[in-house]
Amino acid sequence: MKYKRILLKLSGEALMGERQYGIDNDRLKEYAVEIKKVVDKGCEVAIVIGGGNIFRGLAGAAKGMDRVQGDYMGMLATVINGMALQGALEDAGIMTRLQSAIEMNKVAEPFIKRKAVRHLEKGRVVIFGAGTGNPYFTTDTAATLRAIEIDADVILKGTRVDGIYDSDPEKNVDAVKFNSLSFDEVFEKNLKVMDMTAFTLSHENKLPIIVFDMNKSGNLEKLIEGENIGTLVNV
Ligand code: UDP
Repeated sequence: MKYKRILLKLSGEALMGERQYGIDNDRLKEYAVEIKKVVDKGCEVAIVIGGGNIFRGLAGAAKGMDRVQGDYMGMLATVINGMALQGALEDAGIMTRLQSAIEMNKVAEPFIKRKAVRHLEKGRVVIFGAGTGNPYFTTDTAATLRAIEIDADVILKGTRVDGIYDSDPEKNVDAVKFNSLSFDEVFEKNLKVMDMTAFTLSHENKLPIIVFDMNKSGNLEKLIEGENIGTLVNV
């Protein structure tokens, strides 16, 4: 196994499946199946999930809402998604813990790094909810921060696109995919991998990022075994 401890980042939008809003149960079940495959192989899995399928602070602010208020709403949305994913994983027979950056003891443990690592060592999937716990950040930044804190080998950013392209493959049929890139190349080519705060944090801490298609069955498993799918960003 190439990657023993991973941080999987899933966007909130990914949970919508074909829907326009909210959570698609079939999609949740599919993700649980994919995650179980790697847990069964002994891979330690931590997950950060976004909230964009429910609420984004920036979208609220665009309609006149206070940005900080909206961001906290967005963070709570990630906890809802985390609970949904936790339920699906447990239905699939995986032991899990949900840790929240905003304390809410009835539904989640508080985020405690040492506890999180212990859970991982025991084979439990740890889901980190409520982002970083701070407004003006994103769940990509939360994913990077948690990955560094728990000493993950890699951050796997599951998207609906199968990697990083030189232009948007959903708009340009001639878009070319990169198999691997250095952090510097991403800056030079002005490519969009994660938001700049998250990307800089990964860069400074030499945390490799792989962008891949999470909706294709088997991809997660192939990745942890070191198969070259998606796009790897590394030093
Ligand atoms: N958010 C925040 N601080 C964080 C993480 C998230 O304020 O550390 C808020 C922010 O409003 C964001 C929303 O939560 O828009 C949902 O997260 P994100 O947009 O990253 O979700 P995704 O795009 O991955 O679904």
